[in-house]
Amino acid sequence: MTDTATISKGSDWGYAPAPESTDHIRLKDRYGLFIDGKFTPPASGKYFKTINPANEKVLAEVAEAGEKDVDRAVQAARKAHDKVWRKMSGRERGKYVYRIARIIQERARELAVVESMDGGKPIRESRDVDIPLSAAHFFYHAGWADKLSYAFPGKKVSPVGVAGQIIPWNFPLLMVAWKVAPALACGNTVVLKPAETTPLTALLFAEICQEAGLPDGVFNLVTGAGATGAALVKHPDLDKVAFTGSTDVGKAIQKALAGRGTKLTLELGGKAAHIIFEDATIDQAVEGIINGIYFNQGHVCCAGSRLFVQESVEEEVIAKLKARMETLIVGDPLDKNTDIGAINSRAQCDRINDYLKIGVEEGAELFQTRCSVPGKGFWVRPSFFTKVAQSHRIVQEEIFGPVLAIQTFRTLNEALEKANNTPYGLSGGVWTDKGSKIFKVTRGIRAGVIWANTFNKFDPTSPFGGYKESGYGREGGRHGLKPYVELT
Ligand code: NDP
Repeated sequence: MTDTATISKGSDWGYAPAPESTDHIRLKDRYGLFIDGKFTPPASGKYFKTINPANEKVLAEVAEAGEKDVDRAVQAARKAHDKVWRKMSGRERGKYVYRIARIIQERARELAVVESMDGGKPIRESRDVDIPLSAAHFFYHAGWADKLSYAFPGKKVSPVGVAGQIIPWNFPLLMVAWKVAPALACGNTVVLKPAETTPLTALLFAEICQEAGLPDGVFNLVTGAGATGAALVKHPDLDKVAFTGSTDVGKAIQKALAGRGTKLTLELGGKAAHIIFEDATIDQAVEGIINGIYFNQGHVCCAGSRLFVQESVEEEVIAKLKARMETLIVGDPLDKNTDIGAINSRAQCDRINDYLKIGVEEGAELFQTRCSVPGKGFWVRPSFFTKVAQSHRIVQEEIFGPVLAIQTFRTLNEALEKANNTPYGLSGGVWTDKGSKIFKVTRGIRAGVIWANTFNKFDPTSPFGGYKESGYGREGGRHGLKPYVELT
């Protein structure tokens, strides 16, 4: 018997735990609202708890903003806009935006740990994706602040005014960056409402604004639940609303703003088609599928949640996918070995489990990995469905969890037809050896972003946004400046 055979026989090849330290984290017991450059208590005196979804422990109490607080925040933003921010030269504004980017980098470790504690995502992702990308968005937009006339040649560029911004829980700090960086760079002031379940990194961001010496009232933060968001949208003194979240709430916001002349951009749900042709490099495509749907527990609006595999390679792809999925480590988000962390909230966990039941009842075949999950907290094992039909709810509706629906196709046209059979149009992906197929698919899928031989790649220079029920308006790149400027 060789040495290798001896080792592989009864040895435990599991990874030893590699937990990220939390010693350097100093969260306050209680956070107020951030209005006019100061942390202040809410008018109602009400606070809510934010918990760690991996162990259900309370991390801090956070203020619940009501209509009066929202009004105070909008007034502060208006004053700062009219008196200070819009009058400042782009060059000076850019220095503040740049300073924010630098402080995010300096506090990156703290921000990554808090992001994983409050939201449940693996530390590897918050450390290597969320936080560096957040800093990159501020760096990128700092560069634009004094070059707006080059972005829109021949036009006089001025800010829109006060922006009300509402963000979801899947990429808490990154969504702050996507919203706040272009707004500030273009001379607008902001009132931001983070998601109820993930307010902590937005609160740390408010501290960062203080540290950067950002003039009072340029950035304001109102924490709370959906009612706080609704109060913000209702406020008559907003010039612009930017929303990322579910299609249902997006539609409600659109109705609330109808006839008011307030500018609106919506980044809503998605149900991306991920197409694998028989000539693709299958091992790499399988990695792409994993990244496409299991990254951030599948809490990704552009997740590759509908997989289309060419019939001739179906067996191979599914066998390799199952084998790879069995190696995914589900568990403590703060462990550096973890691939899949905790589901963001009990409500979202219930929602995903409901969809798993619906899929089985509709007649699809469910595969789930055999990994163990912790007893406390909210968890869903990586899952996929086969034997699904286009009409199934698990194919049509956004699940927002680690659940993939797999279908097959024979021809490119069939793949495109199936891919476009969705009310959404946010993203898509294609794996093939042939450039011509890439061009046909990227032109044929009606979605804002299509990745070729890769998936879930983001960059501040590249515009992101949807078609159809995935919303309208773009974030990132030159296109992403447009919603924050008036051009005359
Ligand atoms: P929501 O759309 O409800 O939440 C997004 C943001 O809007 C949050 O800050 C939320 O506050 C706020 N909000 C809620 N109701 C209102 C309202 N009436 N007016 C203004 N703002 C409001 O998403 P959920 O958290 O409920 O998630 C439900 C589903 O939405 C998910 O399962 C997923 O399918 C989809 N989703 C899509 C996202 C995307 O990026 N495309 C992101 C998040 C969710 P609060 O969180 O405090 O309730």
